Amino acid sequence: MRHENRVVLVTGATGGIGSALVERYLREGARVGLVDLDDARGQAAVQDWRQQGHVVSFAAADVSQYAACAAAVEHIRAELGEIDTLVNNAGISPKHDGAPSPVQSMDALEWDRVVGVNLNSAFYLTRLLAPGMIARGFGRIVSMSSVAGKVAISNIVGAHYSATKAALIGFTRHAAAELGPHGITVNALAPGRISTPLLSTVADAANQAVIRETALRRLGKPSEVANVCAFLTSGEAAFVTGQVVDVAGGWLMT
Ligand code: NAP
Repeated sequence: MRHENRVVLVTGATGGIGSALVERYLREGARVGLVDLDDARGQAAVQDWRQQGHVVSFAAADVSQYAACAAAVEHIRAELGEIDTLVNNAGISPKHDGAPSPVQSMDALEWDRVVGVNLNSAFYLTRLLAPGMIARGFGRIVSMSSVAGKVAISNIVGAHYSATKAALIGFTRHAAAELGPHGITVNALAPGRISTPLLSTVADAANQAVIRETALRRLGKPSEVANVCAFLTSGEAAFVTGQVVDVAGGWLMT
């Protein structure tokens, strides 16, 4: 029960990795606030968890919008109490017929959307939650980057995705330096290929090629990302901050 008495906010909380994060934190004794786009899916998820005796709250929000993030934080804070742990997990990776747009023909609105969801959301929620964490002298923040933030994998993701995942690493290190004196750790995860709905957007051949290049010769499981995230926000990692941890089975070893 490493997260007993903690309140964790997870974005993208009904997706592949998000659902595993929620499950992991609940099993470790936390109260968990779920934030995601789809209201019906979120309500169904919280109903399931409540039936199992867990304390959860759901706020439907488009995390690319500051006002929506603020409303979600208020809702979860009112239902669960002060939020001490933030997991910036929501992310999108647009594809067209199974492939990302090449940079020379990428739609500018699509670029803006990816920046909004993958990057701006992490700033918005950190901006909203850091003052309370500073006041209480404790906080944990993890953002979901990607190996695509460190190396080019242009057959799988677009330039917007790579750019936002790289930017999350810079954001993580900067925020870690600024917030560290206040007892707040800020880290990032860089998953490799994890078996979630996001994967089905690319051709199976691309995923098979990744498996051949992965030391452990398989895709990762969402729970394997959640395990490392929960470690980073637990007391066991109290002296770890400003780090980017690969959860990639030895793919690319960045
Ligand atoms: P996923 O299954 O598609 O889950 C993403 C979740 O975020 C979905 O529930 C999605 O809702 C939600 N979301 C999308 N746009 C949103 C918005 N504007 N506001 C709020 N929620 C929004 O993807 P995943 O594989 O679990 O990915 C989770 C994170 O891990 C992402 O940041 C991703 O980039 C990162 N990651 C994944 C992999 C991988 O191989 N799977 C690898 C590296 C990094 P909808 O379904 O309604 O769109």
